[in-house]
Amino acid sequence: MIHIDGSRGEGGGQVLRSSLALSLVTGKPFTIENIRAKRKKPGLMRQHLTAVEAAAKVGRCHVDAKVGTMKLTFEPEGIKAGNHVFSVGTAGSATLVFQTVLPALMLAKEPSTLKLQGGTHNPMAPPFDFLDKVFLPLVNRLGPKIEAKLMRYGFYPAGGGEFHVAIEPVKKLGNLTLLERGFMASLSARILLSKIPLHVAQRERGDLVTKTVLRGGNVVVENIDHSPGPGNAVMLLLESEHVTELFTGFGEIGLRAEKVAGKAIEKYRDYVKRDVPVGEFLADQLMLPLGIAAWQGAGTSEFLTVPLSGHSTTHIDILKQFLEIEIQTENLGRGRTLVRIGYTEGG
Ligand code: ATP
Repeated sequence: MIHIDGSRGEGGGQVLRSSLALSLVTGKPFTIENIRAKRKKPGLMRQHLTAVEAAAKVGRCHVDAKVGTMKLTFEPEGIKAGNHVFSVGTAGSATLVFQTVLPALMLAKEPSTLKLQGGTHNPMAPPFDFLDKVFLPLVNRLGPKIEAKLMRYGFYPAGGGEFHVAIEPVKKLGNLTLLERGFMASLSARILLSKIPLHVAQRERGDLVTKTVLRGGNVVVENIDHSPGPGNAVMLLLESEHVTELFTGFGEIGLRAEKVAGKAIEKYRDYVKRDVPVGEFLADQLMLPLGIAAWQGAGTSEFLTVPLSGHSTTHIDILKQFLEIEIQTENLGRGRTLVRIGYTEGG
């Protein structure tokens, strides 16, 4: 039984979700204590509980857990692919729930179709567009065929979003080398607006046009009328020859439109300046599939990224607890980090 201390490193929900994902893929049971101990409200919140319940359903097992739980044991008894509906029930991020069960389902014997309900565009989580345009295309390069479709936007705090995913699995993942961005093919932006006055989007668009190389025509304002609550997000999409990245600013009560656009612009500029293919968020999210690929014998994967975040270093720790793999990181200077994920002979 693997023992995970949920307070280590980042000490947030990712420690739990990645442990669930790795336990499902390897069949290794684990216990975790001090769940989200470093957060203001420690223990499971709705999003994390839904991730646990989703993992239990996919892993054909039962877990004793409720909101607030700080310790649990997870013992998967196989993998149940097929049709699943996972509903967070609040605005908690449905994309994070999806990433918990994806590794097991993309390696299952049968295809799956998933319906995920909850938040689709939440601060501190991958927005649906990040999954669709950035993360899943890279995972698909490893072999599986995963297609996601947004049905309804869900913003914090009302939630109520939904997306569907079709997964055609593979037996074994391939590896990935991502050391260059290549030429920058196109930059575009989308401003999402739900139950928020139009002048907010106009001010955001103004800032995008004056502070980046974007022209007005490449900034689309989408007035969303089917989401249950208010929401605003500014998303900058940079498509390069070898990789696509997305930089998002989320609207919040009391946060000026210029600050929302400013956050996306700042992240975009930082990425362009560093001349690496993999941004901060993509780095920590890629480690899970690439770690699994290495464990399956795919050989070494390599990518170049920005300085590693707490999420990335924590991810490396968890991966090493579940998988007999080697992960090396090298600071190449000028804010660039090389990550190498490979198999260790003999464990
Ligand atoms: P916590 O337990 O800290 O309250 P949580 O369970 O919601 O939080 P974290 O453990 O913080 O989540 O993990 C958040 C994940 O969301 C990380 O994998 C991070 O890369 C990703 N993420 C955060 N913001 C973005 C963004 N703007 N774009 C893409 N991914 C993001």
